[in-house]
Formats: sequence, structure tokens, C-alpha cells
Amino acid sequence: MIVMKFGGTSVGSADRIKSVIDIVCQHEGPVVLVLSAVSGMTNALVELSETKSSDKAMEIILDIVDRFSGISNELGLEGKDFDLHSVKTHLLDIWQRSETDLLLSQGERITVKMVSRYLSSLGIPCEHMNALESLVLNEEGNPDMHSYTRSLRRHLAGGGIVLTEGFICRDHEGKVTNLGRGGSDLTASLAGAALDADEIQIWTDVSGMLTCDPRVVEKTRSIQELSFDEAAELAYFGAKVLHPRTVMPARQKNIPVRIKNTFYPDDHGTVITRKGSGPGLKAMAAKDGITVIKIVSDRMLMAHGFLARVFGVFDQFQTPIDMITTSEVAVSITIDNTRYLPEILDSLSAYGQIEFEGHQTILSIVGDGITNDPGALVKATQALTDTNFRMLSFGGSPNNFSFLIPTENKEKA
Ligand code: ASP
Ligand code: MG
Repeated sequence: MIVMKFGGTSVGSADRIKSVIDIVCQHEGPVVLVLSAVSGMTNALVELSETKSSDKAMEIILDIVDRFSGISNELGLEGKDFDLHSVKTHLLDIWQRSETDLLLSQGERITVKMVSRYLSSLGIPCEHMNALESLVLNEEGNPDMHSYTRSLRRHLAGGGIVLTEGFICRDHEGKVTNLGRGGSDLTASLAGAALDADEIQIWTDVSGMLTCDPRVVEKTRSIQELSFDEAAELAYFGAKVLHPRTVMPARQKNIPVRIKNTFYPDDHGTVITRKGSGPGLKAMAAKDGITVIKIVSDRMLMAHGFLARVFGVFDQFQTPIDMITTSEVAVSITIDNTRYLPEILDSLSAYGQIEFEGHQTILSIVGDGITNDPGALVKATQALTDTNFRMLSFGGSPNNFSFLIPTENKEKA
């Protein structure tokens, strides 16, 4: 049993959808097929949810319907098989009621409905499992794996491909919600973990995780093997291919995650396993949009409880911390969520002098056991002497060390 997830560009046109079906049908044995919305669709729905103007809303809705109608016509689904008229009124209705999460869920809903109709038209057995009925989060925001597993098993028993929406789910009160942008990867990983799948395949538009961001660095290549730890750090520190939480469910059940390219299905891609390919440097990732906050205070000198109070402020404003370095009289902390920055700065001012600066980037060097080799740190530091790096985090994890640099120096770095 395997889980295959296809992202937005993989279902972005009729031809792409046909390739997806080819790829899925080549697999012998049961498949759970997780789909994201057609590319660009979730962005369009976000825009729709944000507009107050009914003219603009109508324009976006007509674009959405046009896009689906173009694809479904090419798939030969015109007419009653796949009714887009009701889609138009439905979207308008949800927009008028300002139900944002319900609106955002429509991209996956319509895409899956269309592909399900297409599979039926080809006579390929398929069971649609509605993610809004099967994936439910508890009060802590974690999925109820028991009910999810039951639902998956029941649908698999039908014998066809089990087709389900990525990204969307319900919360503990039964309201429609989602797993965050890019969350279809996580859906696939949850489904794989629920079923103890042989493999979780993430099909996308690149041939796996790369040694570096190709938009910034010319000579990148795809990495054939990574460990769960390496992949998790890369995803967290900026590699866009994988939603950062994808690795967790797979790691818990020790299920390999394979990243493949829909456009070049013969490419090896990246396979992520517990062991990976062993120790050593694998890749670099950069996470932009970082703000650094520095608190200088001689009250910190030989005092206890100071950091607890500082962290308490970030906790109070539900803001995760990325990097931290301390000395006896100062502490520097980075965050990427600046929603409560003014409140945080205000509260921190009770503890010392505060400085802050935006437009920073965390540059992470990733590889299993990389911090066991101080030579790697020496080389990296030498290479970065001209980049004004202002923080260095080493020793927190055996699998990466990170520098904070001004974003304008990222390419140079
Ligand atoms: N369609 C959703 C998004 O654009 C989920 C996903 O693509 O994984 O974020
Ligand atoms: Mg994605």
C-alpha cells in the first residue's frame, strides 16, 4: 500500500492530470491518492476571501470557474457530469457569508471532484474519501488518527484507488479548517502513517530536495538520500519542496518518503529514510523574513529566571522563536512571525534595552552529525567573513548549524 500525493502544478492542466493518472495506474496494489488544489487556486481563493468588493469577487469567481471549465472540457467532462454552474453560486454564497476556511477548502474540493469524475469516465475504480468527513483535529490541533485510519480502511476495502483532498480537515468543533499552506504533504504523511504504508510519495515539479535554492545558487543538484532529521531541518529552514511537518508522522512509523517529479517521473528524486546516506554535509537552506530582537540588560548578570521571563513574553504572544544566542548581558532572539512584534517589544522593554531589525535570513548548513566535525564550522565561517553574519547557532542539533545574515547578503553568502 502506498500513498501518492500530487501538488498543484501536477494537476494544473488536463494534460498534467492525465500524466498523474498514468503514474498512479502504473502502480500495482492499493493506492491512496491525495491531491492539492489546481495550481494558483488557493492563492485565488485567499484573494477572494480578502476582497470586500463584490465586483472583484465576481471577477475572481469567474476566473476560477473558467479555469476549471477549461480543464474539465479538455478531460471530456462537460455537461451534467461536472456541474460548474453550481460551483459559481456556491463560491459566491460562501464569500457573502465570509466563511474563509470553507472558501479556502473549495480548491481541493473541486479539484478532487473533477478528478474523481474523470477516473469514473475512464472506468478506473475509485473511492472518494471526503477529507472533511474523515480528518478531524482535536483541541490541541492534532489529528484523530483512530477515526482517520478507520475511514481510510473502509474506503480501501472498496478495492479502488482511494482519492482524497489534501490540506483540508475539520476542527474539534466540526468547523472546516486546514493544515496550513502547503499542508497537502502533511495529509499524505498522516494517511501513510495511519495505514502503515510501504511508502509515502510526494509528487511535485522538481526532482526532489535540492542541495540549495536554485533561484539563488546556480549549481544545485537533487539529493538522492536524506535522513528524516536532515529532511525535517531542511524543510523547516526554508526548503520549499516539503511542508515542514510532513516528516514527523512518517518518522514515527519509519515509512520512507519519496519525492518525485511528475514532469520527469524517471528521475530518481529524493528518498527520505531513517538512515539516509550517512553523516556529512547534504545541503543548505535559507529562511527569509526573519526579525532579530536583542535585549541588553545588566540585570541578567549572574541572575536566574531572566530567560524564563523573556521566553514568557514570546509564549504570551504565541510567537515561536527560531534562533537564540546569549551572553551574560545580552540575549538575541529571532522570530519569523511579526504579527505581535509591537506588543512583544513593549513587554520586553521591562527587562532591558531593546533593539530589533528585520530583513534577516537564517542560513542553515544541514547534514547528519555535521556539528561533530568542527572543521565544517571553520570552513563555513571563513566563507562568510564578508557577509556580516550577526548570530551563529552551533550545537543545538547534531544535524545543522545556522548563521543569521542580512537578507541583502544572502546571494553572496
Ligand atoms: N492548496 C494548498 C496550498 O496552496 C495546499 C497545498 O498545496 O499543499 O497551500
Ligand atoms: Mg507544496
